[in-house]
Amino acid sequence: MWPDTPPTDRDRAAYADAVARPFWMDRLPPRPPAPPLTGLADADLCIVGGGFTGLWAAVHAKRRTPEREVVLVEGESLGYGASGRNGGFVSSSLTHGLANGLARFAGEMDTLHRLGLENFQGLCDDVAAFGIECDLEQTGELTVALAEHEQPWLAEEAELLRRFGHDVELLDAEAMRAEVASPTYHGGVWDRPGEALVDPGRLAIGLGEAAQRLGVRIFEHTPVRALSSAAAAIDVICEAGRVRADRVLLGTSAYPPLVRRAGRYIAPVYDYVLVTEPLSAAQLDGLGWRRRQGLADAGNQFHYYRRTADDRILWGGYDAVYRFGGPVRPELDERDATFARLSQHFFHTFPQLEGIRFSHRWGGAIDTCSRFSVFFGTAHRGRVAYAAGYTGLGVCATRFGAAVAFDLVDGRHTPVTALRYVRRKPVPFPAEPVRWAVIELTRNRLAAADRRGGERGLWLRTLDRLGLGFDS
Ligand SMILES: Cc1cc2nc3c(=O)[nH]c(=O)nc-3n(C[C@H](O)[C@H](O)[C@H](O)COP(=O)(O)OP(=O)(O)OC[C@H]3O[C@@H](n4cnc5c(N)ncnc54)[C@H](O)[C@@H]3O)c2cc1C
Repeated sequence: MWPDTPPTDRDRAAYADAVARPFWMDRLPPRPPAPPLTGLADADLCIVGGGFTGLWAAVHAKRRTPEREVVLVEGESLGYGASGRNGGFVSSSLTHGLANGLARFAGEMDTLHRLGLENFQGLCDDVAAFGIECDLEQTGELTVALAEHEQPWLAEEAELLRRFGHDVELLDAEAMRAEVASPTYHGGVWDRPGEALVDPGRLAIGLGEAAQRLGVRIFEHTPVRALSSAAAAIDVICEAGRVRADRVLLGTSAYPPLVRRAGRYIAPVYDYVLVTEPLSAAQLDGLGWRRRQGLADAGNQFHYYRRTADDRILWGGYDAVYRFGGPVRPELDERDATFARLSQHFFHTFPQLEGIRFSHRWGGAIDTCSRFSVFFGTAHRGRVAYAAGYTGLGVCATRFGAAVAFDLVDGRHTPVTALRYVRRKPVPFPAEPVRWAVIELTRNRLAAADRRGGERGLWLRTLDRLGLGFDS
């Protein structure tokens, strides 16, 4: 399926001059940063994290109660985390796909599917209502088979999607190559509703501006060091200041959690991305891809790729890198072995683009959990709530996760907060060093399954039976 030779010097040269920074953040119009917090601030609600979870939570909170004093603190700048580094695939799924949802939340799947579509529509409506210019394109998503054994999977996937009312097209090799010209394709499935593409950097900044217009006070470059219970309040202790808040909502994703026990459920897994320079008209012509869908391979180890608004190709995924102890640090945003492999696989998929160069390269941490979908928790006697664990599919689901976490911290009981999906936690990962060993073994077995015609060996079948897994 993929070359078993090492990447060549040419593969490496293609990204050697790339800017080591997320493309989305590099193309943002300049803006003055919000000030860091110094001294004391009071708030009804303090949100930690200026990614999509934190930003949507700020918007939801102000919409529900405009007079509520809402403060958002971000350790770096808005969109600095996964929210400004992702592929920009907007998926309505709250369960990392229907099959995973049915395997884990069968009894609630109709509800979760409906909530996912409502949330997707809500995101589209909010983007329009707030006037956020973030290149939202409702293109649908194409999953492509790269091997014969993957074709039946796609047929099953299409049938499942249709059962849930999706408008789906199953494509044979010829039809797939007519959509996007790659000699590697054996077929595809095009899921149209509830799948879109966005510029996530512009979405994050646009949401920040919308939140500010609603009256949210934002502080950037304000890392939170700890939470401490004070009399009838929570002290959010920052580097040079403190927020005394009635309630706190954490949207800190794969970063070290401020509620320690949440860390049992999250493994920070690094994913890496390359973006090409803009394609010429002739290069685009040779590709087809006129309907601009987002694409992903069907294998366990998969790439995701898409066109950007200015006609580059974003190409990411495949290696999902877990490091011992789960560190999240800026120097881990670069990984030459992964960039080289990504470059090699790109030219294998699109040999007609030989000679094109990559303008950007970066990596980012994904908050992987064992059920591949957001989970929730509270701490400090219900005054603190968190939502994390989106496992690489949070661009859209964060809007939902933020609403649920906000309901939890606001003490509101709703049909959604009563769902097992909300009340139950994923199976925790074991502590190190077992955690690292288990994840490495699972990654290794997933790669082997891809090589062996999809056949899942004993280890993966055991995990399946226990409802455990590893994904990005
Ligand atoms: C390379 C990559 C590709 C991806 N592709 C897709 C995709 O195409 N589609 C999709 O749906 N999902 C994708 N994802 C996942 C998606 O980006 C995330 O699920 C989503 O952005 C999570 O948002 P968040 O707000 O929960 O976390 P983040 O965006 O990570 O935000 C957390 C924020 O909290 C801040 N923070 C952390 N700790 C502290 C602290 N102590 N004090 C103050 N601030 C703190 C961080 O600086 C950060 O800005 C991808 C992720 C990555 C890394």
